[in-house]
Amino acid sequence: MAQISKHMFEAACSNVHCSEILHPWNRSCWTSSIQTYRDSFIGSAKFYLIIHLAQNLMRGKKVLTKKELIKAGENYLRSTILGAMISGTCVTFGCILRLLMGRKFTFFTYLMLPNTLNGLFILLEPPSRRGLVINLFCNLAIEYMLRCLERAGYIAITRGKQTVLFMLGSALLFYLMRLEGEKKNRTPLLWLFTAEKVKQKTDDEQNVCPHKGTCTRYIAKGAGIYFGAGLCVSLAKTLLPKLRTPIKALSTVRYNHFKLALFFGSYIGIYRAIVCYLCRSRGYDSALYALPAGCIAGLSFLFKPNLGFAIASLTGAFKIFSTTLYEKKMLPDNIPLPLLLYCFCQGTLFHTRFMDPDICPSYMFNLIRSVSNGRSEILYANMLKIINKIAI
Ligand SMILES: [Zn+2]
Ligand SMILES: [Zn+2]
Repeated sequence: MAQISKHMFEAACSNVHCSEILHPWNRSCWTSSIQTYRDSFIGSAKFYLIIHLAQNLMRGKKVLTKKELIKAGENYLRSTILGAMISGTCVTFGCILRLLMGRKFTFFTYLMLPNTLNGLFILLEPPSRRGLVINLFCNLAIEYMLRCLERAGYIAITRGKQTVLFMLGSALLFYLMRLEGEKKNRTPLLWLFTAEKVKQKTDDEQNVCPHKGTCTRYIAKGAGIYFGAGLCVSLAKTLLPKLRTPIKALSTVRYNHFKLALFFGSYIGIYRAIVCYLCRSRGYDSALYALPAGCIAGLSFLFKPNLGFAIASLTGAFKIFSTTLYEKKMLPDNIPLPLLLYCFCQGTLFHTRFMDPDICPSYMFNLIRSVSNGRSEILYANMLKIINKIAI
């Protein structure tokens, strides 16, 4: 899997028929589209079923009311249509752009431009989910860009630097979350943990901490739950593929599988312990305590360094900050900045999956393969075949 340059792509593919690298299942652009859209719909339905089930489970509500069920179904349907439209129109727009360019493919009109344009379908998602998806794609695009800079020799992404980024991101994120605590609608975020709001001082209560009960219980409970969640994720990843031999699989569990659990558990534990300590010693609660607490808790990152997490902490903080900027009218709300950002990120990431797979975030491979019901792999293999033919 090597990087494909503009020159390589255009030398090999600019004159091929669109059926070769966009719809090999049928030569006609029209007839093939029935299969393309049907498969995109099936692929998206399967992919989003798992995502939505997991998200609804994570909310932790056992019984949903009829209204909530209908809402959950509607959200699932909207996501499925979104996935199907993006995957399907990627092919349609590719064919149309090839026609417009005088029956020629170019490096940027093959996948990048179609997937930048169809990013507009993100409007199908309800606004609360839309923000999360935009956030995720920005994180992935930033990760890709940092990897590009690293490969070109401009920066070195070391474990130490990632940890510093994560500490900084956590401090800011928890601080802004606590500041936002009083608001009715919090900014929806993709984050491990929501910081509790600042407790107002009252005379009739002895407890100065932002929680009920004893501090030890509060800290241990948070650390325990998150340790357990981390362990579940790691174990599920190891055991699920080997379900047929569970005993054998269990014997392969090593320290490695505890890394995520230790990261999550100590992250929450340290954060809570420091907030409680500061509340007790100073006698009142303040959002500012989140700064040292988030920063030091960020050291837990050393258990399991991951560039994606480091970036997510910073963009999460930036997202809450931008909500404030919008409220203060410092960012114009008549220009849909998040939407444009999403389109740009989506175009770049789809393009990267094909042209620069070595440093493309792995989530993109899974996403594109799933929503296209495996058809993207055929396209990629065909494109490589054509390029290799020219290279020989
Ligand atoms: Zn076509
Ligand atoms: Zn406490």
